[in-house]
Amino acid sequence: MPEHDLVVIGAGPGGYVAAIRAAQLGMNVACVEFENALGGTCLRIGCIPSKALLEASELYRMAQHHLAEFGVGVEGVKLDLATMMKRKDGVVSSLTNGIAGLFRKNKITRYLGRGRIVAPGKVAVEGTQPIELTAKKILIATGSRSAPLKGVEIDGSLIGTSTEALAYPEVPKHLVVIGAGVIGLELGCVWARLGSKVTVLEYLDRILPGMDTEIATEAQKILQKQGLEFRLGMRVTGARVVNGKCVVECDGQAPIECDRVLLAVGRLPNTDDIGLEKLNVARNQRGFITIDPHSFETSIPGIYAIGDCVPGAMLAHKAEEEGIACAEGMAGKYCHVNYDAIPGVVYTDPEIASVGKTEEQLKDSGIPYRKGIFPFIANGRAKAIGRTEGRVKILAHAETDRVLGVHIIGAHAGDLIAEAAAAIEFGASSEDIARTSHAHPTLAEAIKEAAFAVDGRTIHL
Ligand code: FAD
Ligand code: NAD
Repeated sequence: MPEHDLVVIGAGPGGYVAAIRAAQLGMNVACVEFENALGGTCLRIGCIPSKALLEASELYRMAQHHLAEFGVGVEGVKLDLATMMKRKDGVVSSLTNGIAGLFRKNKITRYLGRGRIVAPGKVAVEGTQPIELTAKKILIATGSRSAPLKGVEIDGSLIGTSTEALAYPEVPKHLVVIGAGVIGLELGCVWARLGSKVTVLEYLDRILPGMDTEIATEAQKILQKQGLEFRLGMRVTGARVVNGKCVVECDGQAPIECDRVLLAVGRLPNTDDIGLEKLNVARNQRGFITIDPHSFETSIPGIYAIGDCVPGAMLAHKAEEEGIACAEGMAGKYCHVNYDAIPGVVYTDPEIASVGKTEEQLKDSGIPYRKGIFPFIANGRAKAIGRTEGRVKILAHAETDRVLGVHIIGAHAGDLIAEAAAAIEFGASSEDIARTSHAHPTLAEAIKEAAFAVDGRTIHL
């Protein structure tokens, strides 16, 4: 029976990063993964393929509708969906192969099969080559899957989840998206840019729940202008295929007929069938494994859990941070993740990015704050590149000036937010940001100006 210091179950961004860090720290590490390709949801059917399609579809939209404004004439712009998909698949396989290379470099043993914890310190690998492993420590990083919705009959083709929406063989004439969350907006935008009529049905009276409301409201306006139709306050009760067409039913509304349906109402943790019931590993009501936040240890000593299968934001970089902290904790080092400094980005165009507290959260907890806003329309670089929509919003403590939250909607917001995350991580004040020299002309100057605005002294507005 092979013996390892650490057996990781799942090779997503949580699991593979933890495995690499633990190997760097001298542990003899194994990773059990049932998919042939390493990298998890993120690399295979999540972050990476969606961003490849977002980029490609945006180029198509630019060529069709916006290059002429720049004096660049292009005629006969055509969509070659098969090539777009092939490129996406190539990006995915080059990255998943890269993880296999990193495993070899770090001498991590890879087992192909389904991992199940049969006892503390024992993992069975089920599959074509079953084997039992012993481990001083076990790390569960089994991630998540799309949540079903009662009445919505997923057929894995016309009615499907994000996985199908990353590979439609044709541009649907009418796509109905259920859920105006991150997946619904990103993949809704991809297909709208490629020519679909996209209707987004959302149960709540707003899009992007959890995001700062002011920014989400602006996002809705901009995306509507791009052609997305939002129908808010819609409770979807069913969806099925009838005579080759999809029919979506909502409470109190006429049924909607469409060509494809994307169900995107959240994700559920993969915590069934991995042996947790038998060992009595504690989980919360929604099935997420409960952990000690200072060690990532579950209720059973020697068994740890990170990433999408534990409570918190379901983000690849959050899973990675936890993977590193957990491996370092196992090696007796500092084990800490600052959840206040984990950014979130929605890769629509413009991008929407945020870190720290929203204005609603500050109001709800009675924290006094000052707010600085700077619109991109007053930023020179934004004008030069023709991307003037959106704004930067900084929320700082009213007494200490410490930066508590930064919210950006605008071109490259996902890259700009890194400065704000660093500011929050270092406990910076808005004055610190305002005093930092930002190169001219850059979009980042809008962050400096928003920091000035906290103190009511913007220069360029
Ligand atoms: P996962 O990536 O889900 O990996 C878990 C792995 O465990 C999988 O490979 C699975 O096959 C394996 N596994 C499960 N059970 C077993 C078992 N019993 N035995 C062996 N192996 C097992 N996040 C971002 O931060 N940015 C984005 O842009 C982004 N875009 C996304 C787009 C889409 C369409 C989706 C669906 C998600 C996106 N996410 C994004 C979320 C991100 O993919 C997840 O937060 C991240 O993958 C979680 O990492 P993880 O390691 O916890 O789990
Ligand atoms: P989500 O939680 O972001 O959004 C789900 C939406 O569906 C919510 O707005 C919710 O109100 C709505 N909804 C729920 N039930 C409904 C119903 N019956 N009818 C209509 N609407 C309903 O979930 P998601 O978009 O599926 O994404 C899942 C996870 O994947 C998220 O946690 C996200 O963090 C992660 N993800 C991240 C990125 C990124 O970081 N760019 C991209 C994609 C996915």
